[in-house]
Amino acid sequence: METTLRGVGVSHGVAVGEVRHMGTAVLEPPAKQIPEHEAPREQARARRAVEAVSADLTARGQLAGGEAQAVLEAQAMMAQDPELMADVDRRIAVGSTAERAVYDALAAYRSLLAGAGEYLAGRVADLDDVRNRIVARLLGVPMPGVPDSDEPYVLIARDLAPADTALLDPTLVLGFVTEEGGPTSHSAILARALGVPAVVALPGACDLGEGTVIAVDGSTGEVFVAPSAEKRAEIEAAAAERRAALSAVTGPGATSDGHKVPLLANIGGPADVPAAVEAGAEGVGLFRTEFLFLDDGENAPSEEKQVDAYRTVLEAFPEGRVVVRVLDAGADKPLAFLTPADEPNPALGVRGLRTLLDHPEVLRTQLTALARAAEGLPVYLEVMAPMVADRTDARAFADACREAGLRAKFGAMVEIPSAALRARSILQEVEFLSLGTNDLAQYTFAADRQVGAVSRLQDPWQPALLDLVAVSAEAAKAEGKSCGVCGEAASDPLLACVLAGLGVTSLSMGAASLPYVRATLAQHTLAQCERAAAAARAADTAEEARRAAQAVLSGE
Ligand code: PEP
Ligand code: MG
Repeated sequence: METTLRGVGVSHGVAVGEVRHMGTAVLEPPAKQIPEHEAPREQARARRAVEAVSADLTARGQLAGGEAQAVLEAQAMMAQDPELMADVDRRIAVGSTAERAVYDALAAYRSLLAGAGEYLAGRVADLDDVRNRIVARLLGVPMPGVPDSDEPYVLIARDLAPADTALLDPTLVLGFVTEEGGPTSHSAILARALGVPAVVALPGACDLGEGTVIAVDGSTGEVFVAPSAEKRAEIEAAAAERRAALSAVTGPGATSDGHKVPLLANIGGPADVPAAVEAGAEGVGLFRTEFLFLDDGENAPSEEKQVDAYRTVLEAFPEGRVVVRVLDAGADKPLAFLTPADEPNPALGVRGLRTLLDHPEVLRTQLTALARAAEGLPVYLEVMAPMVADRTDARAFADACREAGLRAKFGAMVEIPSAALRARSILQEVEFLSLGTNDLAQYTFAADRQVGAVSRLQDPWQPALLDLVAVSAEAAKAEGKSCGVCGEAASDPLLACVLAGLGVTSLSMGAASLPYVRATLAQHTLAQCERAAAAARAADTAEEARRAAQAVLSGE
């Protein structure tokens, strides 16, 4: 019988297909006693299995690269935790088999993690995956994970383990549905990166029968179970209509009455350029150069290597605008050779521009490489500094740019509330502002962006954050300069309209979000966006702000 379930849509689009469940069955080895003389052999067997699983996770990480790599490497470290291994050895010494000892030791670790606050509890899925892999290896049974299927399917899981999602084949996986997880879970981030529709936090997802046909709407969060032929046709037609509407809206970003809001792409390096060009990005609004530095965590990349990477990106946008952010090391992006190891609170310590001012040679090399890369190219190069706190910071950065002979516009990111409050003073030193709403939310609400337990305060619809966006945009307007947004806020189509209404002059986001933002912006006039912005700022909570803006924009 046809039913409709509701979860949270986290990656746009519609997928219709048969359900396949992730193989996460908990393998419980029998509790059998071994004689004492077998203990050393069992201990060696356990160690070999742990090492093999850890090496496999590391190798998967290297294959996947990017964000997935960091997660998989963290899992590999979990597997090799010395205390965990000592516990496994102890259990074997008193008569456990290797598989039972691993199973019990990880169960003890699991309950510690599950009770240690929301963020660590969120890592339980990663730990379960590690346990299942080691136990499966010891028992000689297939690894849990992605279903073995040659036909495309919709993947269902309690929560997806990064080890599997990193290697998913997007030509087989039509979409994801998970019972747990939230908008910032690994599943959601990876679904968006792969460009497949996804719904998370769907109660009852794990009870869907294997092979059942479902239709997943990643925009609305609806999942239709066993849809009738008519319903299927209706959903597919609606999706096709949405796709057609999206692809019909092309060209530069603008409101329906022609107010231009350039739509730019966020990239981590040359590998992200083709998707940005394909999605019609008018340039790059944020080139996160730290990924170049993370490749070799021990040293800064050579000037030559940097010139090559920058030039590849700059050449892809002839006559376009490319905003390069200089290295943002520290806090959530530590670099061993630059980031102090003993800071009590790294997010409030030496990071971003502060790191570069402490290591002027690193900044000089980067700026020189940028100047060389742009030589002779018809591109509008803009260079900005992360974590600018005040006018002194902005002046130090602009001086460094001038000393390096850089022919570009110099700008400051607004990521610290002080920079928003004193935006006009900062604009005496630099030519543009770019709002990093991810960090601006972190510092406005004193809510660490890496801690899931405070994610409510990371919501970019928070009215206090909108106030700081408005203050910055007004300052830029008064100084006759530009003020873009390059944080995640720009990728929410509704919020993008609100940002335009607040006076933001460009929006930069991951390539996959560009068509949605372009189409939504094109449906509303600037005056509507301004009314939606005022309504959102008049609200007291993020949810109220979202609803108020939605009501204005849908003409309710
Ligand atoms: C931000 O903080 O909003 C931003 C764009 O920078 P990052 O996410 O790289 O810190
Ligand atoms: Mg930032």
